[in-house]
Amino acid sequence: MTKTTLNTSTQASHDELLRTIESLRAKVDELQASNIELERLRATDPLTGVWNRGQFDRAVALELDRSVRYKQPLSLLLVDIDHFKKVNDTLGHKAGDLVLKELASIITAGIRMIDGLYRWGGEEFAVLVTSTSYRKAGILAEKLRKRVAQTDFAGAGPITVSIGVAEHRCAESASEWFERVDAALYRAKLEGRNRVQVDPRGNSDLWEGLGTAPIVRLVWREAYECGQPQIDEEHRRLFELANEAFDASFDPIGESGHLAPALDRLLAHIAQHFEHEEKILAEQGYERLETHRRAHAALIGRALELKASVDRGQASIGDLVEFLANKVVAQHLLMADADYFPLFLDNKD
Ligand code: GH3
Ligand code: MG
Ligand code: MG
Repeated sequence: MTKTTLNTSTQASHDELLRTIESLRAKVDELQASNIELERLRATDPLTGVWNRGQFDRAVALELDRSVRYKQPLSLLLVDIDHFKKVNDTLGHKAGDLVLKELASIITAGIRMIDGLYRWGGEEFAVLVTSTSYRKAGILAEKLRKRVAQTDFAGAGPITVSIGVAEHRCAESASEWFERVDAALYRAKLEGRNRVQVDPRGNSDLWEGLGTAPIVRLVWREAYECGQPQIDEEHRRLFELANEAFDASFDPIGESGHLAPALDRLLAHIAQHFEHEEKILAEQGYERLETHRRAHAALIGRALELKASVDRGQASIGDLVEFLANKVVAQHLLMADADYFPLFLDNKD
């Protein structure tokens, strides 16, 4: 065999290997996509697309634990359509379904991204409002009530809702808490419907003075500086923008729309910063640049997933923390970036 034929056949098997890897990658992507879709179907209500009761139970367990651990009040809104039977009886079940869908989108638009909207059952929806006292939750409920009353539900006539509000109390079980929110809703119905009733008790009275400031904040430390002025400046900015995103997701009366622009600014900054950092590291002849590039690409991938779930209205504070605090700061900035810090050691003193 001549040298040329040997090279050609090596090249051919190499190409084939690449094609196999490529097709395996595509298969993995496909499987991941269908897993995400399955998970979404398991957790959402097929009619309205909001979270279902099973997801509510999981979220309540998690949020109650967080609330007690971080001394952050947790409130619940129970929203029930007034005289909904009449809508079904006079206009039919299909028209009723449309009202349910429209109501779900009005509430989704009026709450923060981190507050879940759940179909509690039938024509009742629950909103789990984190880091929020019964007072603020009452204001939010009133805002939602007004919006519904002002909405023209195509063809269904005026639609109103009654809302019960209760904040969790330390010593009570989840079901005792639900009973209080249910009782508040019942009072709203008794008093004539199209109104909000708040149970005026909760941990926030005990925890007053502790405030309801965001429980998550990234704090810049000197040790995070590598000595390269542009990289350090951009890392600092990344912390600021991340904190703005946390703040946006914590404003309880805020709109779900506040988080998206804050995230856009942050993601644009991250993409730009990665580009700059790669350029600076290339200039310095950094040995593990390729590995670092791959880490950047993976983070951008995760960022796009997060953005997509924000756009679907399905991002939770957990997703945001997982991405910013765990992936970007803890794993990347403190571990991966620290690997190139010695390159700029001379700049530091
Ligand atoms: P109230 O003001 O006391 O809440 O009166 P209501 O008629 O809204 O309350 P009730 O609980 O008596 O009736 C709820 C109705 O909601 C009855 C049920 O047929 C209807 N419903 C529950 N789930 C659905 C659904 O998925 N689609 C439609 N179209 N109707 C539903
Ligand atoms: Mg009902
Ligand atoms: Mg009803």
